[in-house]
Amino acid sequence: MQTRTLGRTGIEVSAISLGTEYLIDLPQDHVDAVIHHAIERGINYFDLFYAQPHFRDILGRAFQGYRDRVLLTAHLGATVESGQGAVTRDPSVAQEYVEDYLRRYHTDYVDVLFLHNSDGQEDYDTVMAPGGLLDLAQKLQEQGVARAIGFSGHTVSTARQAAESGAVDVIMFPINLAANAVPGKREFLQSCAVHDVALVAMKPFAGGKLLQPESNLALMSFHSGGGDMELTKEQAITPIQCLHYVLSQVGVSTIVPGCKSIDELDQALAYWAADDEARDFSQLLAAFAQYQQGECVYCNHCLPCPSFIDIGQVNRLLDTGMAAMTPAVQAAYAALSANADDCIQCAACEARCPFGVPVIEKMEQATELFAS
Ligand code: SF4
Ligand code: SF4
Repeated sequence: MQTRTLGRTGIEVSAISLGTEYLIDLPQDHVDAVIHHAIERGINYFDLFYAQPHFRDILGRAFQGYRDRVLLTAHLGATVESGQGAVTRDPSVAQEYVEDYLRRYHTDYVDVLFLHNSDGQEDYDTVMAPGGLLDLAQKLQEQGVARAIGFSGHTVSTARQAAESGAVDVIMFPINLAANAVPGKREFLQSCAVHDVALVAMKPFAGGKLLQPESNLALMSFHSGGGDMELTKEQAITPIQCLHYVLSQVGVSTIVPGCKSIDELDQALAYWAADDEARDFSQLLAAFAQYQQGECVYCNHCLPCPSFIDIGQVNRLLDTGMAAMTPAVQAAYAALSANADDCIQCAACEARCPFGVPVIEKMEQATELFAS
């Protein structure tokens, strides 16, 4: 495992690390196996953004005995509402979740404390204002509870402001081939490098979409500079190409691919044994010359939903089912505790989605698809 320096913190991190979001709802022995395998393979950085108490307990047990070998993150402002992930900007609520984190992870400090999931100028201003979450993070840092302060978001303009604020050491941001042409991205990455702010790259596979077979990729309707272009089978994209693209970007310290099994983790770690030819992504870039908003990456940053719809999962099953409807997809949809037709079209999710996904329209499509 190669390591890189986490910007001005000076902390050494594994260049490929682990996002834990896909381990939620899996049993203790499975989570133990994935976490311990990651540590054995040299991963030392773990992103832990979910605040669900039962999940914190499971992960806390998995890390017991390893605290001195791992870097654990926490997300300030990540909360739970009716069992669903949610966000608060109330410092007193956020502090309670930090105290809960320390108890459940059996530790007295966090390595990187992220200001959680801030997108849009108004929210950024709230988080960074006196008396806001940044003040709380700085207080926790003075108390020794946080070693470094991070910022997680999906919007170039506000992430760049965070990088240039002088208050943030690490930024977690989606970096992947599909977002290659996001306006302002290049300048943002350069700004991070100039200010020695570390980049933690999330969503290296665009929520798995980059790895889907030809039929699903066609749904993404990427365009080349010269006109419409569908990604063909000859242009199938591998995890190794995705990871090499991300590790090649200016300022990236580590990637946090979300892996739900040892097999998926090993597919990512196969990067280290790959040769230059296997890593080469250059011929793919033409297909991503134009950035497209509106594609769901199944991150569930749009929750909570008043109808308790798992929006990311419904969208994932919709995309999968549109490509090829199978009994397994039907069964997975039928097993959801709330379905797309429970949507009351409140639009709260659309306001929260950082990727401009027309969720209400997607719910209507899913209702129609799974009724047929
Ligand atoms: S609709 Fe947006 S926020 Fe919700 S899961 Fe999809 S990409 Fe994420
Ligand atoms: S618009 Fe529908 S899916 Fe979105 S939060 Fe409201 S009820 Fe849930």
